[in-house]
Amino acid sequence: MTTEIITLPCLSDNYAFLIHTPDSHQTILIDAPEPAAVSRALARRDWRLTHILLTHHHGDHTDGAAALRAQSGAEVYGAEADAHRLPRLDHTFTAGKTLRLAGHSCVIIDTPGHTIGHVAFHFPGLNAAFTADSLMALGCGRLFEGTAAQMLGSLRALAALPDDTIIYSGHEYTLTNARFALTIEPDNPALIRRAQQTEQAARDGRPTVPSPLALEKATNPFLRAHLPEVKAALGMKNAPDVAVFAEIRARKDRF
Ligand code: ZN
Ligand code: FE
Repeated sequence: MTTEIITLPCLSDNYAFLIHTPDSHQTILIDAPEPAAVSRALARRDWRLTHILLTHHHGDHTDGAAALRAQSGAEVYGAEADAHRLPRLDHTFTAGKTLRLAGHSCVIIDTPGHTIGHVAFHFPGLNAAFTADSLMALGCGRLFEGTAAQMLGSLRALAALPDDTIIYSGHEYTLTNARFALTIEPDNPALIRRAQQTEQAARDGRPTVPSPLALEKATNPFLRAHLPEVKAALGMKNAPDVAVFAEIRARKDRF
């Protein structure tokens, strides 16, 4: 049997993810927005939770960790730099490290911007990256703690992953993101197609997360600030990438 990855809608628009490895009977949770949705998903499949990985300190990604840890005995992993503002951790990591979890390699990618200390989890063997509030479907997280330059660096690191990497991000914001992206690139055919599919998914109540990295590169304005056509569309032909990225982020904040 192969490893299964489950997308779990939580709270109003958050996602958590379960990675279940049948051979070892181990299950990894990425982010813990709330205990109930996670416990239900585990019980329905008769899975035992063994690892909880936290991307960043915000409550909508961590509030369920303590209860789930107490219920299951799962061990909680988080960034050493943020240990003081994360729930109680059993293991800390630093960016660049590779963890061995339930038989999988998990590379910790530093993705500051939304918060300082935000990380993404790349599982090369699963073609999966869990990016929470850094790279999102057709968007990126708001800059609460970091700078535009930091977020741009984070997105570049994620964009350097293999094109067939599946991006598991932290929120269902894709419909608003699609409508915004069209204001930047109204003539991008791949974006027009994706926006239509996103409108349909929203009508059907279907999640739009996860999404392939190749699709993000073709449609996500925050991964496209370096392109001459995007710069031209913003009237920033000769501006550096980071200024264009900051302008797109500022427009999204006002959208
Ligand atoms: Zn957040
Ligand atoms: Fe969040």
